[in-house]
Amino acid sequence: MAGNIMLKFVSVPRDMPSKRGVAERREDFDEIYREFAAAKAAEQASRCSQCGVPYCQTHCPLHNNIPDWLKLTAEGRLREAYEISQATNTFPEICGRICPQDRLCEGNCVIEQSGHGTVTIGAVEKYITDTAWEEGWVQPIRPLRERTESVGVIGAGPGGLAAADMLRRAGVQVTIYDRYDRAGGLLTYGIPGFKLEKDVVLRRNEQLTDGGVTLRLNCNVGEDIGFEDIRAAHDAVVIATGVYKTRELGGPGSGLAGIVRAIDYLTASNRKGFGDAVPEFDDGTLDADGKRVVVIGGGDTAMDCVRTAIRQGAVSVKCLYRRDRANMPGSQREVQNAEEEGVEFLWLTNPRGFLGDERVTGVRVARMRLGAPDASGRQAPEEVPDADYTEPADLVVKALGFEPEELPTLWGAPELAVTRWGTVKADFATKETSLPGVYAVGDIVRGASLVVWAIRDGRDAAESILRRLDGAARIAAE
Ligand SMILES: Cc1cc2nc3c(=O)[nH]c(=O)nc-3n(C[C@H](O)[C@H](O)[C@H](O)COP(=O)(O)OP(=O)(O)OC[C@H]3O[C@@H](n4cnc5c(N)ncnc54)[C@H](O)[C@@H]3O)c2cc1C
Ligand code: SF4
Repeated sequence: MAGNIMLKFVSVPRDMPSKRGVAERREDFDEIYREFAAAKAAEQASRCSQCGVPYCQTHCPLHNNIPDWLKLTAEGRLREAYEISQATNTFPEICGRICPQDRLCEGNCVIEQSGHGTVTIGAVEKYITDTAWEEGWVQPIRPLRERTESVGVIGAGPGGLAAADMLRRAGVQVTIYDRYDRAGGLLTYGIPGFKLEKDVVLRRNEQLTDGGVTLRLNCNVGEDIGFEDIRAAHDAVVIATGVYKTRELGGPGSGLAGIVRAIDYLTASNRKGFGDAVPEFDDGTLDADGKRVVVIGGGDTAMDCVRTAIRQGAVSVKCLYRRDRANMPGSQREVQNAEEEGVEFLWLTNPRGFLGDERVTGVRVARMRLGAPDASGRQAPEEVPDADYTEPADLVVKALGFEPEELPTLWGAPELAVTRWGTVKADFATKETSLPGVYAVGDIVRGASLVVWAIRDGRDAAESILRRLDGAARIAAE
């Protein structure tokens, strides 16, 4: 929404004191912004035709009741809109900010399909819940009754947090274990602050701990505590560890200094945003300032890297992707954002190797073209002979995607079944794994996916666990 804001000039009465304080002027601006945002949300919401075939809802992984909360927003009944929106989504203000809506709800809006431009569903969802926080409608978690059973959640990303939230609301004792020093997973350390402000994530973390969820941070399961110890300590366990193993690049020079992993680059940038000491950023290793940056990859992680590099003051930022624009996996909206900010996309290019003595000075680039479709139905890229060239670079960021870590080996749990890609096998409906009472959600099941899908899985797993605990309690009582 912010991108659409028009400047509104306010005429200042002549008798008004000319030197008003910064705080007062800030309040004026905030007021104007609030009025504008409210008007814009109502205007967008009123564009919903209440078509009766809510493809938007079907294509939202949470099946949010979008038409109803749009109608209530158009009528100015924001509190009711919020109640409906939060009934199906644990973090609506987060999804409103970062869901790839063009591929989900908005891409399937009937108004969009008829060529009139989508209702900006995500922006309205964000507005409703931001207002709820401001107005104090977001209630602390206060279960009606405490239960004795406990659940251990491994991983404090959106999947684990969504499961923890639902379980805690039902009175279950929940402990979340995470190897990082802050909760949030990729919401905190992966996704950049210009897409998702960190205070929005932190207040959700606080809401959970205020509501009685125990967070055990700096606790790497498999190192600091055994997986079996967690199983023994709880009635059920949720695995929500995400995927963090970076796909690597080969070729000559691939070990040179100045070639870094996207996750390290983005984590350092986010840590600086928190005000942490980050030696590898301060010594320039993970800082793009003044550098010619080349990012390799065409997914959303690559888009976040290029846009972060622009903000850090890179001299130039180029993105190498082996297919063309139409075939890239990242959101087209993100590509457009990046281009507007000055990123140059080098479509149909692939790194063959890297130049430099100790530090990287350039990327040897092979030009590509799209050949016949492969087994997946996508046109396979193939090299154009004798067309290589050198792209100068001081910093190269590898953003080729992530794979799961080998949990059965790392955790000494060979009976935890995984797929041939290494993701944990979980029942589609219940999320239960091959180990009774152990559930798995989010990226560790789906492979690199989306926040909204992790939330959906977390909520589904919580429901299954509650059914399991209720069943056990009933048997014990009989
Ligand atoms: C750079 C980037 C940008 C993205 N942008 C978007 C976006 O704009 N929109 C969108 O919808 N999705 C986006 N995604 C994808 C999204 O972030 C993930 O799909 C989502 O976070 C997955 O949630 P999760 O809970 O499964 O795992 P994660 O968010 O990865 O959280 C996993 C947690 O588990 C912890 N953990 C792992 N192993 C252990 C262990 N052994 N012991 C203890 N703790 C452990 C980790 O520290 C982490 O906190 C992006 C991903 C990346 C990498
Ligand atoms: S959760 Fe995501 S897909 Fe669903 S309505 Fe919100 S923005 Fe759209």
